[in-house]
Amino acid sequence: LEAQEAIDRLCVVVPDVPSAGILFRDLTPVFSDAAAFRTIIDALSEPFAGEFDAVAGVEARGFLLAGAVAYATGTGVVAIRKAGKLPRSVYREAYDLEYGQAELEIHQSDLPAGARVLVLDDVLATGGTLAAACALLERAGAVVAACAVVLEIDGLGGRDALAERTLHTLHSV
Ligand code: IMP
Repeated sequence: LEAQEAIDRLCVVVPDVPSAGILFRDLTPVFSDAAAFRTIIDALSEPFAGEFDAVAGVEARGFLLAGAVAYATGTGVVAIRKAGKLPRSVYREAYDLEYGQAELEIHQSDLPAGARVLVLDDVLATGGTLAAACALLERAGAVVAACAVVLEIDGLGGRDALAERTLHTLHSV
């Protein structure tokens, strides 16, 4: 598959980031390669053509994907942000990280009720981030059409955390 080949060729594995023993998968070189970026952008939404009205991206690398997919598919884009950044009324979800917690927020009124949303991020690990993003969209009255990520890291439970969702991954390691 074209997307898998591009990811294998361009993803950089960085040892000991963010902490000792962790291998950080850096996809930014996949994004900065014109042909590879076009390939992953098209592949993220391909199975869901006509099934979504907007694309949500999780701060920050999810934004790079969501804007491009929305433009390519003629849909709108929604930002799911780290806590404290959005200026109007928000919903907030806390979720667990390996050490400690984080919070994501969405504007309460960025989407019409019933909007069908494709939710994007770069990497799926434990699934906590995407599960929180989906919960926020549903609190905001939207319907999660599917989740899609460029890279799934196996063995961390991400697929189980999203068991009730439709999940599309371009590659897994
Ligand atoms: P999860 O919540 O454990 O699934 O972690 C996914 C979130 O952490 C996503 O927003 C990713 O951008 C980020 N993340 C976790 N591991 C990696 C990695 O190896 N490379 C890049 N991002 C990562």
